[in-house]
Amino acid sequence: KPKNRLTAQAYIDGVLQGSRVILSRAITIIESNLESDKVLAKEIIQSVLPHSGKSIRIGITGVPGVGKSTFIEAFGKYLTSLNHKVAILSIDPSSQRSKGSILGDKTRMEELSNNDNAYIRPSASGDTLGGVANKTGETMILCEASGYDVILVETVGVGQSETAVHGMTDFFLLLMLAGAGDELQGIKKGIMEMADMVVINKADGDNIRNSEMARLQYQNALHIFPQPDSGWTPIVTKASSTKNTGIRTVWKHVLKYKTLVEENGYFNKNRNQQKIKWMYNNINEELKHLFYGSPQIKNKLSILESDVISSQISPVKAAQYIMEDFKKNM
Ligand code: GDP
Repeated sequence: KPKNRLTAQAYIDGVLQGSRVILSRAITIIESNLESDKVLAKEIIQSVLPHSGKSIRIGITGVPGVGKSTFIEAFGKYLTSLNHKVAILSIDPSSQRSKGSILGDKTRMEELSNNDNAYIRPSASGDTLGGVANKTGETMILCEASGYDVILVETVGVGQSETAVHGMTDFFLLLMLAGAGDELQGIKKGIMEMADMVVINKADGDNIRNSEMARLQYQNALHIFPQPDSGWTPIVTKASSTKNTGIRTVWKHVLKYKTLVEENGYFNKNRNQQKIKWMYNNINEELKHLFYGSPQIKNKLSILESDVISSQISPVKAAQYIMEDFKKNM
């Protein structure tokens, strides 16, 4: 057993008692790639699981520079003023930058990071989106078990991490800017379609008028999408994270949404689907790992590749052949 490790029970007790120090150390175990830590992590998660889930999980996305950190600082401060305990996590699989990027850069959320009712954890690192998403999902469970009742999951707004964050949250918030076209902002239609709320940020100073125009434009654009399964009509508002306007409105809509989906059953339905999907994602990853990680398979595949190239065997037949072989050796 590695040095400096507590017993599983000590992690579990510390997390449940709301100790920030133990919570941080438990998350480090979750993020570790050591085999012994993986065993420990599973035990911790399994024990705290019944104490998790009592929260609202909010995904936040938008292109770099849109003001996510600034918004989260303002929003998080407002929520803690209402006596909520707020955990801030992030997903950034593209980043091999050292820990300390994005949310780890505490100077970007200086006040919040000194707030006893806010917990900021930088993005876990990892090679695959699936791996990073797993760690963030489990971190979320630990935070909930530790008493955090609002979980903000930030994504950097480039690539596929939005879908991962959408797949682990209850409410999806997209930050945008006035005056820049959708393409300029790198926001794909699919991401707009996932949004429960769009906030036009930086609606201050000379930018207020443009922001109102953008708000109307996006509100119209959202009407084109089919009504979401939640029964909620996505809404567009404007805010200034630096001037602290429009921040309360965001929370007001989150609560409205929560009431609606709790009453119509979507809240639980969605969470249940997310759990099942999480399981299947892991099965899929494990299967791939099992298959492509096998030295025998690797060998046979390299032979098959040349047979496919020389048309000695069709690609479909080759796939079938190797799968038959795999099944026999299972
Ligand atoms: P992120 O990359 O999305 O996390 O964006 P940041 O929060 O780091 O903000 C990028 C820049 O925009 C910073 O210089 C912020 O001070 C500025 N900014 C953020 N929100 C606002 C806002 O509401 N109004 C104005 N005028 N500037 C803002």
